[in-house]
Amino acid sequence: LHYQPQIDLKTNTLLGYEALVRLSNPEEGLIYPDRFIQLAENNHLMQLLTQEVINIVCRDISAHANTFRGLVVSINISSQDIVSLEFPEMLEQITQQYGVSSNQLCLELTESAVMGELTSSLDVLNRLRMKGFFLSIDDFGTGFSSLTQLYNAPFSELKIDQHFVMRMETDSEAKVIVDICIMLGHKMGMKVVAEGVETYKIAKMLRAQNCDIAQGYGVSRPKQLKEILAWRVHYNESLVTES
Ligand code: C2E
Ligand code: CA
Ligand code: CA
Repeated sequence: LHYQPQIDLKTNTLLGYEALVRLSNPEEGLIYPDRFIQLAENNHLMQLLTQEVINIVCRDISAHANTFRGLVVSINISSQDIVSLEFPEMLEQITQQYGVSSNQLCLELTESAVMGELTSSLDVLNRLRMKGFFLSIDDFGTGFSSLTQLYNAPFSELKIDQHFVMRMETDSEAKVIVDICIMLGHKMGMKVVAEGVETYKIAKMLRAQNCDIAQGYGVSRPKQLKEILAWRVHYNESLVTES
C-alpha cells in the first residue's frame, strides 16, 4: 500500500491519507492499479483484495497508533464489496481486532460503484455510516446520475474528480464545474475534497472557493508507509502556501 496525504486547505494541517494499492513484482517492480483492479473485478477477486487492503491499513494504524491519532485513512472500495450485508460486519470485525476506531476510516466509492447496485448497496452504506465509518463519493462528476446518489446515500464527503481539478487553472469550464461541485457538496452538508492538486495556484483557487481538503502531487505523491511517516516529520505547513 502507498499512502497519499490529504490536507486541510484552510490551515494546511494534515488530515489523513488515501491508501492506494500496488502489486510488487520481482521483474517488473511496482504494478499500478490500472493494470489489475478491472481484472480482479472481472474474476470476482475484489472482495479478497479489499479485505487485504483493510487488514494492511488497520495493521499500519495500530502499529503507529500515536502517529495516526486524529487522522483518517481513506480506502477505495468497489461495487462488489457493497452488495453483501456481510461487508459492514467484516469491516467492524477487522477494525475491532486491531483496536482501530470506525471514525479513523473513510470508504471511497465511485459513482458508478454506487449506481451499479443502488437499492441493495444503500442498505450497506447506511449500516456503514451508522457504525461510524465515513463515506466518500469518489471521482465525482464523471459518472451517471450523480445527483440521485447524493440524494439517496449517506455520504460525508464529496471528492471532485482530478480531471477537472488539474485543468481548472487553464480551462474555464473545468473551473466552473469545480466551483459548482464545491457549492453542491457544501449545500448537502458534506466536506469537499479536491484530488489532483498539482500546483500552488490550483490550491489557491480552491481555497478562494472554500474547498475543504486537498490531495495531490503538489502536497505529496503517494508513498510507502515508512516514507510517508518520514515525509510527515519534515512536512512544513507553510510550504504548501508558498511553493
Ligand atoms: P483514485 O481513487 O481516483 O485515486 C487517485 C489516483 O490519482 C491515484 O492513482 C493517485 O496516485 C493519483 N493522483 C493523486 N494525486 C495526483 C496528482 O496530483 N496528479 C496526478 N496526475 N495523479 C494523482 P493510482 O494509485 O494509480 O490509483 C488509480 C485508481 O485505482 C484509483 O483512483 C482507484 O480507483 C483504484 N484503486 C487504488 N487502490 C485501490 C484499492 O485498494 N481498491 C480499489 N477498489 N481500487 C483502488
Ligand atoms: Ca479514491
Ligand atoms: Ca478519485
